[in-house]
Amino acid sequence: MESSVQPTIQAMSTHRSTDGSHEGPRAAINQEIRILNTIGKRFVASIDRFQVHRALLAALQDLYSFAACCILLKDPYELFIIPCYPLRPALIDAMIEHIVNAAKAIDFQHLDAEQLARTAYLDAPDEFARPRAQNTATRTQIGSKITIPLTVESRIIGLLSLFDENVGSFDTELLQMTTIVADYAAVALENVRLRERENALWRAAELERQRLELIIRSMSEGLLITDDQGKILSMNNSATRLLWAAHEELKRDLPLRILAATSDVSWLSTLADVTEQAFTGQVVTNQELIVGTTGDNVPLTLSVSAAPLHEGGDSSLKPIGVVTVLNDVTSIRQLELMKDEFVSVVSHELRTPLTAIKGYTQHLVRRIERRIRRARAQQMSTSASLDDLPESYDLRSLTIIQSQTDHLERLVSDLLDLSRMQQGQLHLHFEPFYLADLLSEQVRSVQGSAEQHTIYLDIAVADSYVEADRARIGQVVGTFLDNAIKYSPQGGQVTVLLEDHEDGYKVSVIDQGVGVSPEHFDHIFERFYRVHNTASHQYPGIGLGLYVAKTIIEGHGGNIWFTSTLGAGSTFHFTLPRVPHPRTTRKLQ
Ligand code: ADP
Repeated sequence: MESSVQPTIQAMSTHRSTDGSHEGPRAAINQEIRILNTIGKRFVASIDRFQVHRALLAALQDLYSFAACCILLKDPYELFIIPCYPLRPALIDAMIEHIVNAAKAIDFQHLDAEQLARTAYLDAPDEFARPRAQNTATRTQIGSKITIPLTVESRIIGLLSLFDENVGSFDTELLQMTTIVADYAAVALENVRLRERENALWRAAELERQRLELIIRSMSEGLLITDDQGKILSMNNSATRLLWAAHEELKRDLPLRILAATSDVSWLSTLADVTEQAFTGQVVTNQELIVGTTGDNVPLTLSVSAAPLHEGGDSSLKPIGVVTVLNDVTSIRQLELMKDEFVSVVSHELRTPLTAIKGYTQHLVRRIERRIRRARAQQMSTSASLDDLPESYDLRSLTIIQSQTDHLERLVSDLLDLSRMQQGQLHLHFEPFYLADLLSEQVRSVQGSAEQHTIYLDIAVADSYVEADRARIGQVVGTFLDNAIKYSPQGGQVTVLLEDHEDGYKVSVIDQGVGVSPEHFDHIFERFYRVHNTASHQYPGIGLGLYVAKTIIEGHGGNIWFTSTLGAGSTFHFTLPRVPHPRTTRKLQ
């Protein structure tokens, strides 16, 4: 006999007493309640799916004698075969085939029969896992079967199937009870599934947390997390090491600002400033913090960056704290110091021989010029050309030496300026002059050496009176002009433009040269920064001209910037207030 796949709800049969009188529905109800209670308790006590299987098997075995029950779960598909005794492989195959057909009949989507057969899980005691060897030796066919949907809140989560090798094993009268058992099992399985999913999520989160903790702990950067009050929530090992000078203070459970106010450690207030600034929503980058003792050659120096921490990473919400990263930059500062000292020594050492070379070259030039003048006087009586004179050749050589020495002198003076700036010894000497005059002087002086270029001077102001350091402003214009010529090797036009600008003037030097590509825009004014983008052309220079120019212009209270298009040319600008700006420092660093 084969039972229907669709369970029909039937009343439990009522019990009669032996004398034929009805004990009444109450006894039947009481019995039903007792059974349900036992079943319910078994399921409720199940904390994993295998315990649910055991509870299900026990409940069904109270109702029928059968070979196996099977659970097919959806999303993802999983098939569990729970045998009551060892089964033959052929019988298992037949059961799987029936389950697949039943699932297809009620429209379980994307069910891969082969895959299901391969991954079916035999949930049996070890001895049941072996094929059955006794009495039913010829039986490999299914005699009876029953399949019931497993539903939770009217949602089908899978199928429960019962199989037996004998015919007529399943009593339709017990179908209602079987359905109730299936409902219990469905809820219990769904709970287990939810718990498993929750556990898996928790495990993944925990794993991620441990991974993060490991990364943070092994980071060479110090990491400091503060809450909305500025109190330290956590610090990694590197932060503890780097901020050792304040370890006693940092142990106290107080906001950084209060720690700073009650401590002798001066840099704590800078650290508090940084975290408070980040807490307002701003990202602070590379703020320098000297935490070492001043007696050291280069004290322990940190570069501090901080960013606000937002709940769930949503930056539109108020921050809940701040994450601060500390980088030890002492060795970089040490290298910079060594470089500065080297530059200072070398530039000073170079100046003396350079001055001598310049002086003697000038002396020789004058002597040769005198000789040539004498020869010119004699030439009146002979027909020899002046160009053929050995003195003319010497003069040409000396002029080259002179121009190269001038170039070298400019380099050395840039290096000297740099070391003076480093030591805060580059002073400005303000004097009144006309900017237009200075520009035309500068244009004249480069015109001679720029044969391939046409240099225009465009004075678009009525007056150009300023009080500034004439030599230093001349140096800036010279740097702009030298660069405009140097970085337009094909020649072309260079325009020097003077315009009115707010309370002063704007000077622009426009060229049609190689231009600068955007990735270098932010670095062009950094010291020693050079663009190495032209394999075909090497431009001489050391990357100091614009750095020095920026320091000079900012020292006057002006601004310096540029615009450029790669391959089309650049325009370098600076502004200069008419009279020294109140924020002018005069001492440049
Ligand atoms: P240097 O010319 O000695 O390299 P600067 O500080 O004067 O040093 O200039 C820095 C860098 O800026 C240069 O190496 C060059 O790449 C770029 N640069 C400056 N002026 C120009 C310009 N007019 N056109 C294109 N690139 C320029």
